[in-house]
Amino acid sequence: MPDPHLHPQKHAARPDWNLIERKWRQVWDEQKSFESNLDSAKQKYLVTVAYPYPNSPQHIGHGRTYTLADVHARYKRMRGYNVLFPMGFHYTGTPILAMSRRLVSGDKDLYNAFRNVYGVPTEVIESFNEPVNIARFFHQEIKQGMKEMGFSIDWRREFTTIDEAFSKFISWQFNLLKRKGLIIQGSHPVGWCPRDQNPVSQHDTLGDIEPNFIEYTLIKFKLADTYVLPVATLRPETVYGVTNLWVNPHVRYVAARVDEGDNPMWIISRDAVMKLKHQGHKVDIDHEIDGMKLVGEYASNPITQNKLPIYPASFVDPKDGSGLVMSVPAHAPYDFQALLDFTNGNTSKELHDYSVVKPITIIESEGYEGDNIVPSRIIIERLGVKDQHDPLLEKATTELYSHEFYKGRLKENTGKYAGMTVAEAKDLIRSELLQNGIGEILYEFVKKPVKCRCGEECVVKVLSDQWFLNYNDVQWKDLAHECITRMDIVPDEIRSEFNYVVDWLKERACARKSGLGTRLPWDQDWIIESLSDSVIYTAYYIISRYIHFNEDSYITAQNLSESFFNYVLLGEGSLKEVSEETKLSEELILNMRTEFMYFYPVDTRHSGRDLVPNHLTFFVFNHVAIFDRAYWPRQIVVNGSVLMDGKKMSKSFGNIIPLRQAVRDHSADSIRVALLSSAELLQDTDFSFEALRGIRSRLDDIYQMGIHLSNSNDNIQASLEQLYHAQSVTESEDKWLLSMIQRRIGDATELMDRLRVREVLHTILYTMEQDLQWYNKRVKSKGRTELLVNTILSMFLETRIKLLAPFAPFLATEVWNSILKETTEIRANLDWPSVSEEYINSAAEESEDLIKNLIQDIQNILKVTRMKPSRINIYTSAKWKWKVYQRILELIIVNRNSSLSDVMKALGDDSEISRARSDVKLIKKIMEDVVSIPAERRSLKLNIKFLSELLAIEDAAPLISSELGNVNIEISVFSEDEENVKKNDPQSRARLSRPFKPALYLS
Ligand SMILES: [Zn+2]
Repeated sequence: MPDPHLHPQKHAARPDWNLIERKWRQVWDEQKSFESNLDSAKQKYLVTVAYPYPNSPQHIGHGRTYTLADVHARYKRMRGYNVLFPMGFHYTGTPILAMSRRLVSGDKDLYNAFRNVYGVPTEVIESFNEPVNIARFFHQEIKQGMKEMGFSIDWRREFTTIDEAFSKFISWQFNLLKRKGLIIQGSHPVGWCPRDQNPVSQHDTLGDIEPNFIEYTLIKFKLADTYVLPVATLRPETVYGVTNLWVNPHVRYVAARVDEGDNPMWIISRDAVMKLKHQGHKVDIDHEIDGMKLVGEYASNPITQNKLPIYPASFVDPKDGSGLVMSVPAHAPYDFQALLDFTNGNTSKELHDYSVVKPITIIESEGYEGDNIVPSRIIIERLGVKDQHDPLLEKATTELYSHEFYKGRLKENTGKYAGMTVAEAKDLIRSELLQNGIGEILYEFVKKPVKCRCGEECVVKVLSDQWFLNYNDVQWKDLAHECITRMDIVPDEIRSEFNYVVDWLKERACARKSGLGTRLPWDQDWIIESLSDSVIYTAYYIISRYIHFNEDSYITAQNLSESFFNYVLLGEGSLKEVSEETKLSEELILNMRTEFMYFYPVDTRHSGRDLVPNHLTFFVFNHVAIFDRAYWPRQIVVNGSVLMDGKKMSKSFGNIIPLRQAVRDHSADSIRVALLSSAELLQDTDFSFEALRGIRSRLDDIYQMGIHLSNSNDNIQASLEQLYHAQSVTESEDKWLLSMIQRRIGDATELMDRLRVREVLHTILYTMEQDLQWYNKRVKSKGRTELLVNTILSMFLETRIKLLAPFAPFLATEVWNSILKETTEIRANLDWPSVSEEYINSAAEESEDLIKNLIQDIQNILKVTRMKPSRINIYTSAKWKWKVYQRILELIIVNRNSSLSDVMKALGDDSEISRARSDVKLIKKIMEDVVSIPAERRSLKLNIKFLSELLAIEDAAPLISSELGNVNIEISVFSEDEENVKKNDPQSRARLSRPFKPALYLS
């Protein structure tokens, strides 16, 4: 066994990160650093993240969510929590099946991606004809990658979703949901792959598109007595305002008998035939009809009996709805614009008798009232829409639709619906149409096309006798809302999206005929699908370590019964009976129950933003259905995805970088930091190698600083605290850096608590770097070399690596253990630093700020005047001005808007400061100074009372001259109060000085 306490090569040019990573991974393993057990003395924190689907290796894009979860876990651990961060592997479902099938059928792209991008050996790829081999192989790949990334996972709890014991757990979950009436059998629409003959969800589609669909009403317009022309609409109430129909003259339609009976035949597109068939209709095509043939015919409105001309329009897409469109120009901006374009002749000359069609306004709403008002025209003119290809039309449509839906009332010309709100009338009209056989329902995907991973275009299918989770249940929705309201959601702006999804979710097919997974306990023909068996598995982590495949595992799937889960997870039943039934000892079962009560609920759940409309919301739904409120999840954290040089990562773009390869080439810590430092949580982060190299070199510098400090002196661990209390810390920059360290700790802690990781990293890597550079400059300009400097630098470095430890655990652990603290006891987990109030020194902070500002002021003057001075006189303000300053500061803290006369009054009769009243210009300037100070710093300045600017500037004079690029500049500082100031003030500048704003004379 190699010595884990291997010392770094103290003169190495660049650290060998892979070596350091291996060393610490081994220490973490040996010390079991991430194995968490019940510890009632400590508060627990359960961190979970959506487990991976092992159908391909992890690439950099997958790294973000897991890294963030790990950073969260490590931070909480450093704060003293007993953190449990477990991981499992999701084998369930069809993607693995689809991938295996693609390989078997000779898909070269996929083969090459495995072979060349991920370097999978040929013989391994050959074994992938057996789907589970794909999962087993990539499972190990991903797990190894997670270890190499330094994720602090308790691997004892690992499982896969096809483990027998896990299946027992899922059977229990499904039986329970069925008993609660939340699983129903019925006919409902689902996204469907016609080739696989299986429902599809986001997991099954190319590009991970959620197959959401929406319900249209098909309204059947009559054409003579022999045909109907069905038209799909989301606004059935506008049937009263139809003026004409649109047909595509270049499309061959069909006349078909739909469902039974002697009903007139439907004229629809061939695409519509397929849709109707999938949605439970019986469709027999009788003959074809050219679109052109329909042009010029008249249909009749089934409600108003109006005669409606049929016009040609090439914008009508046979794939949308029925392939025919109804025109409601008064309320549909698209229709109005189309008519307008035809008359203006700028699209087509197909239309001759447009002039007979007049918009029929049927809805009145605020802003759209009056006899001759056409709402579409108004909004089109207001937005300045140019033609029917103008993207503004979409805006016009959405705006008018929602305005009329919420504020509109139906007009006189709508019969019995006159006077109703649109929201009321919409559903009533729809029901009337459906009841009278004038309307039918048609489902369409919200975003088209949706493609299955097998390449086939998906459809909406109405499945009968299928098993559904009834997410449409109102009481269930209420509980889900309650959970979301009680929960912390990070970032909070995404909360409304969760509530929206809860409202919007309908019945969801929860079982499939093919794929890997658990069979429905009461109907063995069905396999529970992947987004339904992954909703409460976070509870399974608590027991999985007892069922695990290591040597101390002694529970097998055969021991697990429904009553076992009822007892351990719900606290129901009798321990004695469960023990008898399962043949497990009472003690063991009780341990699991106690551990569950200790570790549950989930304290935080991490996932990508794409899982909000499905997994994360299902996670909430199922928890509220199964567990008591005390065990509902407490927090959800959502993050955006990863782009590579501005582009979405995809195999076809060739920009996929396997995670393990990236770790080997660039170090785990740099990748972890790069994934989290460039974007806010919800934003997509843009990963670039240039940024990665920049980060790596910053981390290398931090490491080098440690090496440098440990080489420079062996006594560095002299107790700083003792020095401080002995008041041997006297130099301004020392006091300042010690104070700044506390400020940075305070800032970083506050930011970490809200997981604002980008800002935390900015503070640690950039702001603290500036602190360090300033300190070094100050020290260098004074020629200081004593031990105290290195002691303070060590304290700075120690704080910095501790703040960095959640993000760059290898660097932090290495620097702390092997460089800064050469003790025999290895600390695998560092503590998060806390603010030491005694080091906070506002005066030192102000004093260094004064110097920084002064240097900048002089540099500005030199730039503007192009002077090359040989001497600079600096005048600090008189004591009485400080009193004036204090008085004004007090006033402004109480009332930011204090006026000049308030100030005059406040200066009062004090003889020393009332003299200021004669200098209104000075007072106004001081007021400006004070108002421009950030509010949180005003009281700090007030507490300081008086700053000896003269001493501060004299102390920094060497730095000032070196910063001005001329060490020979003669710098003299005078107080306005001094006797001899007049002799040294040829231009009477001293009187212009103000507190924190010394006056200058350059020559
Ligand atoms: Zn398919």
